[in-house]
Amino acid sequence: MIDYHVHTSLCNHAEGVMEAYIQKAVDIGLREICFLDHLIISEPGNKLSMTPGEVPFYFQAIQLFQHKYRDIINVKAGLEVDFYPEHTNFISDIIGMYSFDVIGSSLHFLDGVNVVSHGSQWSRGENDTDYIYGLYLEKFDKMLDYNYYDIICHFDLLKKFGRRPLKTFDKEINELLSKIKKKNLSLELNTSGYNHPVNEAYPSRKIIEKCFEKEIFFTLGSDAHKPESVGQHYGKALPLLISAGYSQIATFEKRCQGLIPIVSF
Ligand SMILES: [Zn+2]
Ligand SMILES: [Zn+2]
Repeated sequence: MIDYHVHTSLCNHAEGVMEAYIQKAVDIGLREICFLDHLIISEPGNKLSMTPGEVPFYFQAIQLFQHKYRDIINVKAGLEVDFYPEHTNFISDIIGMYSFDVIGSSLHFLDGVNVVSHGSQWSRGENDTDYIYGLYLEKFDKMLDYNYYDIICHFDLLKKFGRRPLKTFDKEINELLSKIKKKNLSLELNTSGYNHPVNEAYPSRKIIEKCFEKEIFFTLGSDAHKPESVGQHYGKALPLLISAGYSQIATFEKRCQGLIPIVSF
């Protein structure tokens, strides 16, 4: 199988050297591992991501490992980019300078509200739940007006701390998925949600089933922030995809999508 979402210590909140992530992927028998480390262009002082100036080093490091491990495992290069409409030109320029395999798009911060970190207001139960869900989906819709990325990371990340809206937002989600299909984007099945209060993958079974109906494909990723987490919870995630009807999973090479059969391991 593959792991298409692993971080590196360049983002300042992940641990372990890059080679340890690759080694773990080899140990558990993966055929591909893709680094998808954070690139967040936001207000100065943001320390949760590599800086634009570190991108060349990051890309070169991956290339070295690609070569070193070429007979053992496929090592791929990607980025997890936070969406800020005002920085999309700058981001597109950076992406265009390297032959990345895949670019993921994420929303972790909404008008100053951090919806991902432990200890944030959102994690503590502050901020109005329905309001933040509405804001997230609105921003998501705006994000879909841009074309610099290939996959959408952790579609329903807001549920991480177990917070669920009173409103269903079914209509909005359905419209987003239709737009995603129209743009030929893929989603990722992100297994890190099993580590958090919500205790399920992103996205939920209901959304995976809707994606299957619409013929939207998934990559698969652990969102590992330490080497031991590579391939985490695949024993739960793969049956989830299969039971929704999927028999194939999306891979990327130089930003072109391919499909491989889902195999359990
Ligand atoms: Zn992270
Ligand atoms: Zn993320």
